[in-house]
Amino acid sequence: MAYDRNNVFARILRGEIPCKKVYEDEHVLAFDDITARAPTHVLVIPKGEYVSLDDFSANASTAEIGALVRALGHIARERGIAESGYRVLSNTGPAAHQEVSHFHVHLVGGRDLGAMLPRG
Ligand code: AMP
Repeated sequence: MAYDRNNVFARILRGEIPCKKVYEDEHVLAFDDITARAPTHVLVIPKGEYVSLDDFSANASTAEIGALVRALGHIARERGIAESGYRVLSNTGPAAHQEVSHFHVHLVGGRDLGAMLPRG
């Protein structure tokens, strides 16, 4: 799938849409999910144009991949949920119901998150 420069996260990166910024560095932006499903629900995204985890894992630089993983851990510690526990997930493609076609990782925590997935 080609990258769509008008997706909502691309517009956030360009400053065309506001966000509640949580963290930023050279490669990464993180902001609160607009429909938070837990006390902490942060979206961590690369600044580069990657459609999905599939695209990011194949085409991003080691520095970009490292920065994103470092940011996840940093934000979790800063939010005070590293000890209690948290979950990271990335919906990739239609079967996972990925809604926004700019790679993003959900970081959720601050409550008991239950089982990973309903059985099905
Ligand atoms: P996904 O199904 O993994 O693609 O999830 C996309 C996520 O983006 C959802 O949890 C939405 O609530 C979130 N979202 C959509 N628009 C915005 C926005 N403008 N600011 C913050 N989060 C958003």
